[in-house]
Amino acid sequence: MIVTDTHTHLYSEAFDEDRDLIIQRALDCGVKRFFIPAIDSTYTDAMLDLKTKYPDIMFLMMGLHPTHVKENFEKELQHVEEMLAKEKYYAVGEIGIDLFWDKTFLNEQQEAFRFQIRLAKKNKLPIVIHCRDAFDEVFEVLEMEKGDDLFGIFHCFTGTLEQAHKAISYNMKLGIGGVVTFKNGKIDQFLNQIDLKNIVLETDSPYLAPVPYRGKRNESAYIINVQEKLSELFGLSAAEIAEVTTENSKAVFGI
Ligand SMILES: [Zn+2]
Repeated sequence: MIVTDTHTHLYSEAFDEDRDLIIQRALDCGVKRFFIPAIDSTYTDAMLDLKTKYPDIMFLMMGLHPTHVKENFEKELQHVEEMLAKEKYYAVGEIGIDLFWDKTFLNEQQEAFRFQIRLAKKNKLPIVIHCRDAFDEVFEVLEMEKGDDLFGIFHCFTGTLEQAHKAISYNMKLGIGGVVTFKNGKIDQFLNQIDLKNIVLETDSPYLAPVPYRGKRNESAYIINVQEKLSELFGLSAAEIAEVTTENSKAVFGI
């Protein structure tokens, strides 16, 4: 069984004390592919270190996270563009719009999102979308950029069934993580109405730990709890969930 964590911030400071142990623990649980989303240029070196140490299992993305779009965003975008030309990356992400924390830079967030979608198209890469309190704004950009060359993952999908269908209509798979195990997470109510071929697994570790670890530091091994929940919702074995969602991740990332 090969489980794919399509979204894990393993380079985070949260893992500085025990990163190798965390990776080993995930491997022992069958989690053998790790896709690593970027945040901003301050993490680029740490991400490359991770790839150097684990070249066969770590797959990096490059991008500017919407909550890190600030006054210097143009310089950050230039860094994204330069790194995409210089190193091997498997997606542009995470990118998108986040209006939960701060609306000050909405215009800049929209501009950065669109710019990075175009970088993805230019490099023939998928995008990994971060969307928080911003479905309308994200869909507005996707509507403008839609096409065969636009595809990717709607990371940490927490919308409605209607929004799920809409995301899928833009060639996006739904990244499903800890929220599906939450009592008030809502997506567990309708997820089995979505074709499993549109779903990939993720942790977003160190954030959003699934039940029974909710509120604690998340890690890739806990993806098993997400996998079990999907197994229950879809009436399939955990091995079948792993197989289909790993195939889906290969379809997105090309590896
Ligand atoms: Zn993330």
